[in-house]
Amino acid sequence: MDSIDVPIYLQSDRTRIDDALQELRRRKRGGLLVRGKDECRLLFAGDLLRARRDGISAVQRISGGQPVMVVTEEHARSHGVDLRDLQRRPREFETMMEHHQRSYAISDPRAPSSVSHAVPMLVTRSEELGRFLRMTGGYECNGDPKHFFPQPYASAGDDCPLYPECSRPDGSIPKVKASI
Ligand SMILES: [Zn+2]
Repeated sequence: MDSIDVPIYLQSDRTRIDDALQELRRRKRGGLLVRGKDECRLLFAGDLLRARRDGISAVQRISGGQPVMVVTEEHARSHGVDLRDLQRRPREFETMMEHHQRSYAISDPRAPSSVSHAVPMLVTRSEELGRFLRMTGGYECNGDPKHFFPQPYASAGDDCPLYPECSRPDGSIPKVKASI
């Protein structure tokens, strides 16, 4: 498991995708959270880039994303996890995630016992998922159709990991580069 602070936006706000991408680059993060009243989802930089290409301008307008479990006092009680620090009881955490079929979790910021957290931490089940989120901004391939990363994992200079879904006019393997 891994724990990382990522930008959080409210579903009821309107955040420009360009501003969110800039924030991801500044904080060297590969994803962000969008919080609704009772649910929370994770969007990767690649999701933002793809949406921007499709003409969407606000982060909140992007559909889908990875569901994030919002751990409440009740969950903490029934699974024996620590709301203030989800990483403190890794075995109980894993069982809870397995039970709820989730790969990501945050503590419910409204829970009284989590107030000590100035910045809510996103906790991931695997270290690899944490690695995606520590990538700066987003990446894209120079093929057609264009792919966006992270998720799957790619870094600048790599051959596109989704080749041969994409191709280049000259027949060479498309390369991954940082998106602007
Ligand atoms: Zn590609």
